Amino acid sequence: MNRQLQTPVSGRPLRGLFVSGTGTDVGKTVALAALLRACVRAGVRVRPVKPVQTGVSGPDDARGDAAVYAAAVEGLRDAVAPATLRRFAMPASPHLAAGREGAHLDVDGLRAAVLRHWEGDEDAQGLLLEGAGGLHVPLNDTEDMLDLMEALGLPVLLVGGNYLGGLNHVLLSVEAVAARGLTLVGVILSDTRPPSGREEADARAIRQDNEALLRRRLAGRGARLIVLPFEPDLHSEPRASLAWQALAEACEPLVDAVRSACEPRAGEEAAVRVRDLQERDRRSLWHPYTSATNPLPVFVMARSRRNRLALADGRELVDGMSSWWTAVHGYNHPRLTAALRRQAGRMPHVMFGGMTHEPAVLLAERLLELLPDGLERVFFADSGSVAVEVALKMALQYQQGVGAREKIRFLTPRGGYHGDTLGAMSVCDPVTGMHTLFNGILPRQIFVERPSCRFDAPFDPASLEDARRAFEEHGREIAAVILEPVVQGAGGMWFYHPDYLRGLAELCRAHGALLIFDEIATGFGRTGRMFALEHAGVTPDILCCGKALTGGVMTLAAAVCSQRVAEGICRDGQVFMHGPTFMGNPLACSVALASLELLADGAWRRQVAALESSLRTGLSPCAGMPGVADVRVLGGIGVVETEQPVDMAALQDFFVQRGVWIRPFNRLIYLMPPYISPAEDIARLCDAVRAAVMEGRLS
Ligand code: PMP
Repeated sequence: MNRQLQTPVSGRPLRGLFVSGTGTDVGKTVALAALLRACVRAGVRVRPVKPVQTGVSGPDDARGDAAVYAAAVEGLRDAVAPATLRRFAMPASPHLAAGREGAHLDVDGLRAAVLRHWEGDEDAQGLLLEGAGGLHVPLNDTEDMLDLMEALGLPVLLVGGNYLGGLNHVLLSVEAVAARGLTLVGVILSDTRPPSGREEADARAIRQDNEALLRRRLAGRGARLIVLPFEPDLHSEPRASLAWQALAEACEPLVDAVRSACEPRAGEEAAVRVRDLQERDRRSLWHPYTSATNPLPVFVMARSRRNRLALADGRELVDGMSSWWTAVHGYNHPRLTAALRRQAGRMPHVMFGGMTHEPAVLLAERLLELLPDGLERVFFADSGSVAVEVALKMALQYQQGVGAREKIRFLTPRGGYHGDTLGAMSVCDPVTGMHTLFNGILPRQIFVERPSCRFDAPFDPASLEDARRAFEEHGREIAAVILEPVVQGAGGMWFYHPDYLRGLAELCRAHGALLIFDEIATGFGRTGRMFALEHAGVTPDILCCGKALTGGVMTLAAAVCSQRVAEGICRDGQVFMHGPTFMGNPLACSVALASLELLADGAWRRQVAALESSLRTGLSPCAGMPGVADVRVLGGIGVVETEQPVDMAALQDFFVQRGVWIRPFNRLIYLMPPYISPAEDIARLCDAVRAAVMEGRLS
């Protein structure tokens, strides 16, 4: 894919409509030309643009749609000079016609071309973009016209043929547009065939029925239905003018939809809508880690795609957070949404008590294949915190099962983060985890020093001393050690030496304690290995994963344990006492399975390695700058640690002004972009961080 053609982040929001046929030869060009005439006459300055046109030799080829538009708007040529952005001679599907000329089409390139065209035509209020054929006309092996429509995000107008079989194509297209989250403003049913002899009565009945049925089906969708009659005189002067006028008049009810999609006030309306949502949000919602009565500002988001997020006011941001480290494949990945849709059609959810299903079984098997030997049983949970609760309970029930009843406490290094439920909170860092708020309520765990030895420094065995001492003192009561392998995430974005894990595993073995790895943040490639434990070659007794498990689409997590742990828990007819309502949710399992399939092709290794080198290049100049305490990068994680806590709201605003989404906290400005982020977007994220440092915006 040509990354140079990535779209610009700034610029005025694209306005207009995307007009697609429900197939070829449904009368789209004529319908669009008639609509154009109606718009021009109503004073709406829309420009027809065809991102791809096939079967033409040049811009002035009389066979092209240009001639049709020009005829439709006779005398108004300047107002509607149509643009074709890519042209190919072969009258065939774009992928084939482009291939014949050794050219390649893709959504990013076409989208960039449309936006460039839009930027260059300041006089236009909006674009009337015309597809080529139907929605699933291929642009290349993996992308269709519908993908381009989704990427542009404009409201859609469908044109379908009014004949036997036409209704089926219209209804399929209406569903396909809705499934992409696009707004359907209307359907034009176009009568493209002259009535013929004895069949005329039947044909008329079919046309009328198409119209009546479609009207009923579209009711409630807020989409208009326009019926264009067959006009025999379109190409015969002097009657053509009247014929075009008749078609344009039939299209008039759509002009308002075009106007509202085009007029500059759409921008103001969007701003009003945004403010309205923000105010209503303040009245009725509570956001993470905020005051209900004096909340931090929130941004209203509208759409997402790849590594980009669109605000409801039309601005576009480069995402640096992967939505709390989940969206590793970027947003709206077609294979993930397809998996979700397929499962939604079959069975969105059933209880897991006494039932099972293929998505859960396949996902468990796939997870076990990815994890080291020795981890053999999967317990699904609905969030990371719950998976941690499950892991803690597994350890406690195991120790009871094997008769070590005094083992009821957990040992964990300071600086850790494991979630916000009470059990998980008890093993979070006692300072950043706000233990003082819940004094006397949280179980009192055993904390040892944060692993002091850096990931990239020679291992210092002294970093294990505190853990050794704690085991000597409390070994009899320690049920398990829990920690995030190699990367402590929300507790401080700290990368420590893998040998620490080897030492800790030995201590656990010596004292009959289980070892729990919390890979919720590190799992699925983020540190450059599929799981961070691979840096150390240590297999824990229990492992928690979540976050990127579903590629950021659904909430799902898992606690996976060894056969020894499972057997210890289930000794003497005992059972494991946990069972969330939405356990093993089929939608979440299906999308997770699709996400693991995407990882299976191994491209993530190259992508994360590329992220690592771009983050290093982009962030290392911050080292030594005023206010910066440390800069570190590992895999797809880049961290600038500041000397003082940052003003999150102010800094976030600064970043949004610069077209990037970065949410710093405490003394950490960090980046965890989607793996598929292009290098120039990583550079843009790093530029923004450097600018924040250089402009002294750290506190
Ligand atoms: N463990 C770790 C290491 C995490 O990073 C997180 C979330 N940041 C959790 C547990 C909790 O997961 P969730 O927010 O899904 O409950």
